[in-house]
Amino acid sequence: MNFDPEVKTLTKQTKNFRKFNVDEVREDFPILKRLVNGKPLVYLDNAATSQKPQSVIDAITNYYTYENANIHRGLHFLSELATEAYEGARLKVKEFLNAMSVSEIIFVRGATEGINLVANSLCRANYFDDGDEIIISHMEHHSNIVPWQLLCERKNLKLKIVPVNEKGEFIFEEFEKLISDKTKLVSIVHISNALGTINPVKEIVKKSHEYNIPVLLDGAQAVPHTKVDVQDLDCDFYVFSGHKVFGPTGIGVLYGKTEYLDKMPPFQGGGDMIREVSFEGTTYDDLPQKFEAGTPNIVGGIALGAALDYLTSFDIQDISDYEDELLKYATGTLLQIEGLKIIGTSEKKASVVSFVIEGIHPYDIGTIIDTDGIAIRTGHHCTMPLIKRFNLPATARASFSMYNKIDEIDQLYKALLKVKKMFS
Ligand code: PMP
Repeated sequence: MNFDPEVKTLTKQTKNFRKFNVDEVREDFPILKRLVNGKPLVYLDNAATSQKPQSVIDAITNYYTYENANIHRGLHFLSELATEAYEGARLKVKEFLNAMSVSEIIFVRGATEGINLVANSLCRANYFDDGDEIIISHMEHHSNIVPWQLLCERKNLKLKIVPVNEKGEFIFEEFEKLISDKTKLVSIVHISNALGTINPVKEIVKKSHEYNIPVLLDGAQAVPHTKVDVQDLDCDFYVFSGHKVFGPTGIGVLYGKTEYLDKMPPFQGGGDMIREVSFEGTTYDDLPQKFEAGTPNIVGGIALGAALDYLTSFDIQDISDYEDELLKYATGTLLQIEGLKIIGTSEKKASVVSFVIEGIHPYDIGTIIDTDGIAIRTGHHCTMPLIKRFNLPATARASFSMYNKIDEIDQLYKALLKVKKMFS
């Protein structure tokens, strides 16, 4: 494998952003034209996964039509083409996150695998001692709880939980009380998938670094909605999933600072991650290949690159502003429904509205409005401890993306009124 992981930068140009216009954006997403149950699709389950623009679909088709080959290994034309496209995508991710180097970008299956990689590799590096502590928060996705619980069982560690208040906000003072010399890692969600809460991640990183504790940020919900600059955040690890940012499933990113990744041993062994193999022992490749054993999701990486091209063709601030408008409108509109309560009312919030309606189970809400072609999520949103914290079995969740319209929120409102009528 000859890819040179030296610091590479795309030529910086003053970018002419595409003007944000929701009707034009919708034209880019073919699935939005389809009918569901005979009605135009109203897709409000974006926190679960986003839809894909034509350019991403084309990137997948193009790869299999014209470029398919295994990467890094072959010297033939197609292999070089595929390698260039895959490594080009890594460079796009590096630029997207403003990482220092492409060697800090590890392609993984998704946010879940990124967190598992860090947990397992740090464990193998004997980073943790008996009785050490890991801090997470009460609003973590299961993927930022269970890998640490598995580690705690293996290494006799303790998981410390930062509580959230009634609004669903991270209680910083409680975090300050929990952090101590015993803390070895802090792992916190950037934006909550269940409530939309935007956490004070920069302050969390700063406080943790006062104790020399590394911080992992789970950015699965953040990257589609807000500018993420890992150097500005100064986090030590950052993970996200391609499928929530207009890319395909099965591909995601672990960003790690070189100072950590360099010292961490591989998570998995196999082809493509080695320098020399013999029965006496094996030496590993440099970053990032050290962490990418086996044939990777080549087309996934390339299509993720296309997704980031799509997203960054806009000024992400325009997208954030537009989604804030949707959030504000949805909050005001849904609150007009008698008996409806919004769970998660953080001052700083992204475009997620979790709600319950008195006397109606969220599953019934989801099932009934599906007949009108409206897709929302109901359940615990892979945040069981958080939903329990609010003494609920489940919530209904509408989550918005850049292609949603005010009109769709009106349709949701009308459908919910219908549900209420059925149950009255
Ligand atoms: N963290 C958060 C905040 C999420 O919303 C999700 C997906 N719902 C994940 C982690 C896990 O992502 P994936 O299943 O793509 O690995």
